[in-house]
Amino acid sequence: MTFAIHGLPVARGIAIGRAVLVASSRLDVAHYFIEPTQVAAEINRVRDGRDAVIAEIHRLQTSIGQMGPKDTPHELAALLEVHLMLLQDEQLTQGVKHWIKDRLYNAEWALTSQLEVVGRQFDEMEDEYLRERKSDLEQITERILRAMRGISSPLIQPLGRGGRKASQQDLLLDDTVDVPLILVAHDLSPADMLQFKQSIFAGFITDVGGKTSHTAIVARSLDIPAVVGARLSSQLIRQDDWVIVDGDAGVAVIDPSPIILAEYGFKQRQGELARGRLARLRHTPAVTLDGQKVELLANIEMPDDAAAAVQAGAMGVGLFRSEFLFMGRHGKLPNEEEQYQAYRRAIEGMQGLPVTIRTVDIGADKPLDDTARDIGHLNPALGLRAIRWSLSEPAMFLTQLRAILRAAVHGPVHLLIPMLVHASEIRQTMSLIDHARVQLDNRGVSYGHVKIGAMIEIPAAALTLKVFLKYFDFLSIGTNDLIQYTLAIDRADESVAHLYDPLHPAVLRLVASTIEEGRLQGKTVSVCGEMAGDISLTKLLLGFGLRSFSMHPAQILAVKQEVLRADTSKLTPWAQAILADDEPARRLNQRV
Ligand code: PEP
Ligand code: MG
Repeated sequence: MTFAIHGLPVARGIAIGRAVLVASSRLDVAHYFIEPTQVAAEINRVRDGRDAVIAEIHRLQTSIGQMGPKDTPHELAALLEVHLMLLQDEQLTQGVKHWIKDRLYNAEWALTSQLEVVGRQFDEMEDEYLRERKSDLEQITERILRAMRGISSPLIQPLGRGGRKASQQDLLLDDTVDVPLILVAHDLSPADMLQFKQSIFAGFITDVGGKTSHTAIVARSLDIPAVVGARLSSQLIRQDDWVIVDGDAGVAVIDPSPIILAEYGFKQRQGELARGRLARLRHTPAVTLDGQKVELLANIEMPDDAAAAVQAGAMGVGLFRSEFLFMGRHGKLPNEEEQYQAYRRAIEGMQGLPVTIRTVDIGADKPLDDTARDIGHLNPALGLRAIRWSLSEPAMFLTQLRAILRAAVHGPVHLLIPMLVHASEIRQTMSLIDHARVQLDNRGVSYGHVKIGAMIEIPAAALTLKVFLKYFDFLSIGTNDLIQYTLAIDRADESVAHLYDPLHPAVLRLVASTIEEGRLQGKTVSVCGEMAGDISLTKLLLGFGLRSFSMHPAQILAVKQEVLRADTSKLTPWAQAILADDEPARRLNQRV
C-alpha cells in the first residue's frame, strides 16, 4: 500500500529506487556490487566467517566444560547455545545468499541487510524473551563481520553515484533488474555522510536532523535527493521497499503505485532537463542587469571537491570546511604533512583561483568521532567548539596553521577563523598565526602570504563588528549558526526545525548590518551559510549589498541565473522595506 512520510527537504531532485536500511553503527562496512562470477566466492567468505565464529564458540564451550560445575556460569553456557543456534539458522544463511546472488551485494553488505530483515521480525515478537534475542543476533553479526575482516574480498571499485541505472520503463515493468538504491537510516553523522561521496546510493532518508545540520549540508554537497527529519522512516520502511525520495518537497513515498511512479518519473526527467539548461550558464559571468559583478564561490568539504567547484564555474572556494579532514579518525589527528598535502591538492585543484580554508570547526553536531556523539556536554553547540577548541589545543592549532601557511605557496589562500566572539580570542588567534610563521622561519620552510578573515556567526560578533573590521581583511557570514544562535534553535533538531527562520527580522538585521558595515570600511563580506545558495533569497541578499556568495557547487548555476535577472538599483529600496517589516516573509513574495 502506498504511503508517504513527510520530512525536511535538504537536497533537491527526485530519486526512485529500493530501500537499503542501514544502522549508523554498521555504516563502516563496505557497500559495493560484485560481478556475477564472484557470487560463489562472496558466499564462501560469509560461510568462512560464520564457521570461524562457530569454532570460537565451540572452543569456549570446551573450556567452560573443563571448569568445575561451581565455576561454570550457567547463563554463559546458555548464551553460547543461543548464539550457536542463531549462527546455524537457515533464515540468516538463506537471506544472506539471496542478497549476494540476486542483488549482487558484497558479503558484508548482504550480512548487514539480512540482519535488518531478521531484526525486524524479532522486534515484532510478542514474547519479551524472544524479542530480546535481537541483541544476540546483532552480536553474532558483529563477530562474523570481524572474522570476515581477515578474509579478504576480491578487490572491486565501488560503483559511481546512482547505482546501476534502470530506466523508468524498467522500474514499471520489471522488478528484478538492478535499480538505484535509497539509503534509509535513523541518523547519520556528517562523517558517515561523507563516505557516500563515492557511494552507490541515489538518495537518502533519515529519521532525524534539521535542514542546516551538518549531515544535511554534506548531503546537499553530494547533490543527491535527500529528506531528513522524516520521523519513523527507518521503522516504517522495510528493506528493499520501493521508495521515491522527493527532495524538493521533503517527502518520501513508499511502495508507490504505477501511476505515482510514472508521475514522479516525469518530474525526474523535467528536473534533468532544467539542469541541462542551467549548464549553459557555466561560462557566463555573474553580472546583474545593472552591471554589478557578483562573486559566486564554492563550499567544499574535501580537497577533491575542488573539481566539482571548477566544473560548476565557481570563482574560487569561499569555504573549505577543514574539519572533515579531522573526523572519524579514532583520535589520530592529521599531522602537518598530511594536512599540507590535502590543502595543496585543493589549491592546485582550483587552478589559480583563491581557496578560503577555514580552521577546524569541531564540536556540536560535528564530533571528531561518532563515539563522542553521545557523551559529554549538555549544550555542545554552546561549548568547546571551533576556535574555542583550537585555542584550547594550541599544538594542534599551530600544526594546522603551519600546514595552511605552507600550502599558500601553491596559490592564493585565505585563512578563515570560525566562531570568534571576544577581542581576546582574536588577539590570541593572531598571535598563534604569527607564532606559526616564526616556527616555519626557524625550520627554514617557505610559506605564502594569506589574507585573514573571520566568520560572523554569533550575534555578539555581528553586533561588535568594529573590532573584527580592525583586525581582519575580510568577513564571512555563517548564517547557519547565526540563525541558530540568534533564535536559540538547535539547527540539528528536527523538532524545532519549523522555527529555524532565515527571514526572522532579527536575523535579517544582523546580516544586513554586517554587509553594510563591511562595505563602508571597504572590506569584502561574503555569506557562506546555506542562505547563500537559496535562490529564494538571492535577490534579497543582493539588495542588502552582498556581492560575494559561497555555496555548494551544485547550487552555483541556479544562483547565477537569479543574479543575471536581478537589477540591484531596484532591489536596494525593496530590501530596505523588507528589513523594516515585522513579517519579512510576507513581503518577500511581492514582486520587485
Ligand atoms: C555557518 O555556520 O553558516 C557556516 C557556514 O559554517 P558551518 O555550517 O560549518 O557551521
Ligand atoms: Mg558555522
